Amino acid sequence: MQSLQQQLREFVSGWGGRVLQCNAEDCAGTRRAWQRISTGAGSVCVHGLRYCFPQCFERELRKRFDRTQLARGARQHPAHRMPLGLLMLSRGRLTDSQLRHALEEQKLHPGRRIGECMQRLGYVSEPQVIAALATQWCCPVLKALPQRIVECGVPMSFLKNFHMLPVHFSVVARTLHLAFAGDVEYPALLAIEKVLDCKTEACLTTPSGLQAAFQRVDKQIACVEKEFEGARGAKEMTRITVSYAGRLGADDVRIAACGEIVWVKIDGSKEVINLVFNAMSARAA
Ligand SMILES: [Zn+2]
Repeated sequence: MQSLQQQLREFVSGWGGRVLQCNAEDCAGTRRAWQRISTGAGSVCVHGLRYCFPQCFERELRKRFDRTQLARGARQHPAHRMPLGLLMLSRGRLTDSQLRHALEEQKLHPGRRIGECMQRLGYVSEPQVIAALATQWCCPVLKALPQRIVECGVPMSFLKNFHMLPVHFSVVARTLHLAFAGDVEYPALLAIEKVLDCKTEACLTTPSGLQAAFQRVDKQIACVEKEFEGARGAKEMTRITVSYAGRLGADDVRIAACGEIVWVKIDGSKEVINLVFNAMSARAA
């Protein structure tokens, strides 16, 4: 005669994943393994791993939010291979004296990028700066942005914060192409990959082109998002997420942090909601 545990194991494997074990380590500590098995109704996934709702789910969220808080602000820009001014000089787009002049101009206006200074002085055009930046970032230049934005599931506040717009989604390669107008924000691309479970590719476009596209597409984004402005601790973000997950009958929750933003995507039984916690929001107290 089969033992109860053996029968249960067979029952679980027979269900092909519809009945799943809780992935929380501390869940095992308090209950026996076979008792940890929970049905879909009483559990929610975090990045595809199932947890009992609400206790184990809440603890897992808290751990992940704590990690995002530790990494907060650690947004690093990779070093460019060659400074933009030198690159343009080597391409014959700029003379020695023009470059010196542009660097002096930048010293007077520390907020300005060197490309912008060269442009303001009338030495180079916007497309020339973008072409040089594309060489620096090793990515293609997009001549014109599409009229309609690609429905990709990235919240508008996240796109705006990192000055990027989705331009194409390749279904076969599961790759989202995003356009930037200056620095390519690789940490933001990684966050998108983590939340949407896809690959990303960057391309460059002119700042004026991107700005016009933002104005055009502002109303096109159907992605539901709730933005929470001002700094929130891990405890509060956990509380808010658990509350939404419960209300939506969530099946899966995914979290990614980038700079001062924490993005949470909640897949509910009927709808998807994105929570965007923005510690650096302009309207923050
Ligand atoms: Zn559990």
